[in-house]
Amino acid sequence: VGMNAQDLGKILHREPAEIVKKLFMLGIMTNQNQSLDKDTIELLAAEYNIEAQEKVHEDISDIDKVYEKLAKQAKEAKHQVKRPPVVTIMGHVDHGKTTLLDRLRHTNVSEHEAGGITQKIGAYQVRVDDRLITFLDTPGHAAFSNMRARGAEITDIVVLVVAADDGVMPQTIEAIDHAKSAKVPIIVAINKMDVPGANPQHVTEQLMKYNLIPEDYGGDTIYVNISAKTGENVDELLQMILLQADVLELKANPKQKAIGTVVEARLSRGRGPVADILVEEGTLHVGDPIVVGNTFGRVRVMTNDHGKQVKKATPSMPIEITGLNDVPESADKLVVFDDEKTARSVGEARASQALQKARENVQHVTLDNLFDTMKKENMKEVDIVLKADVQGSVEALQQSLEKIEVEGVRVNIIHSGAGAINESDVTLAGASNAFIIGFNVRPTATAKSQAETEGVDIRLYSIIYKAIDDVTAAMKGMLEPTY
Ligand code: GDP
Repeated sequence: VGMNAQDLGKILHREPAEIVKKLFMLGIMTNQNQSLDKDTIELLAAEYNIEAQEKVHEDISDIDKVYEKLAKQAKEAKHQVKRPPVVTIMGHVDHGKTTLLDRLRHTNVSEHEAGGITQKIGAYQVRVDDRLITFLDTPGHAAFSNMRARGAEITDIVVLVVAADDGVMPQTIEAIDHAKSAKVPIIVAINKMDVPGANPQHVTEQLMKYNLIPEDYGGDTIYVNISAKTGENVDELLQMILLQADVLELKANPKQKAIGTVVEARLSRGRGPVADILVEEGTLHVGDPIVVGNTFGRVRVMTNDHGKQVKKATPSMPIEITGLNDVPESADKLVVFDDEKTARSVGEARASQALQKARENVQHVTLDNLFDTMKKENMKEVDIVLKADVQGSVEALQQSLEKIEVEGVRVNIIHSGAGAINESDVTLAGASNAFIIGFNVRPTATAKSQAETEGVDIRLYSIIYKAIDDVTAAMKGMLEPTY
């Protein structure tokens, strides 16, 4: 053939010296000018081809990067269009979240469709005039923060339901803190206006303490008084959601490969793995080769929230798909690939990586690793969830903790309250990379085991200055280890 290491270097875009070295490793002694035989060239080609393949593999099996690339591409696209807002309903138990979701689901159905409405696909859309709103069907902040903890930030707007006859309750505050921590705007829906004794003014005053200031008082939080039961003012609430959506200028690019997030997934006896997907960018088509979390396949059948088969799905549209080789998890990302072969190899690589990762525990920020984490992640704030036995202690501790400052890094209490450390506290801490301080309180049994599985650090104290000292010392990297 007459090719030497220099010629090959040009073809392979490598330095000739590297080729010579590579050949040496393969047991072939040569120099840059010596011509090489066919077998040697083939060996070398195979070697580089494998490397090239491995490199490609490494790149694309990091699905988060592909997802981010497509998300970025969408943000920079010229033909972005308005997309429907995605809404999560939160609030204290029994304040009317489910009733509101049910009412909204039904406002949307015309008579002849009534049969299809039983479809539960994790989310549904409501039509208001000529616009759409997407509602996530799982209310509450636990689902919201679980998704967030796994990297899925799909909610654009939170509707906070507060019963007019009950007012602000512990889970109302939790919901506010979860939404704020995620930087998602809140619309307040004061519910149960039909109940005698409904006192929306009192609720508003309570909520203002949490910085939800209505426009009448110079703030920018939208308040709507509704009755989920009678339907009073629910239309107004929908209009306000659209108004808030306009302020947020929610846009997407439907003209590209789709990305999305799994809202729910399950194994169906007749249809195999089924995943409820919220499309975020691009348009998803039947037949698209996809990777979803650690699974792969092709979109076989796509069904909308009315149980009707559709051929494509645009941004903010919830759909149910079949065609995956396995059941993904909620919050998993969906990415469309060029061809099925690539989707398969990426999916398989991810499945084996996942096994590997499952063995290594995820490391959250703890009091012990705080100093190192602060340096490594260039933290500006140390996030803490604070629980104490009585409100007085909460306030005393919060004030002292918030005064701590070490080399420009401050303490930020993302949630505080009186009472035992519960699952919601652990979920919030996990999602926000925070740790938990308990003063004269303990975690509930479920919160304790959840914290253990998720690697969330809980520290219990009964002396205020000890808590302050520990946090200060940890931020300085001078905490004495406890055994
Ligand atoms: P969730 O726990 O927040 O999902 O609350 P639910 O939607 O299950 O509602 C709790 C109770 O309050 C149920 O008995 C509902 O019928 C009732 N409820 C919900 N909304 C209203 C309302 O606007 N007015 C009245 N009178 N009752 C309501």
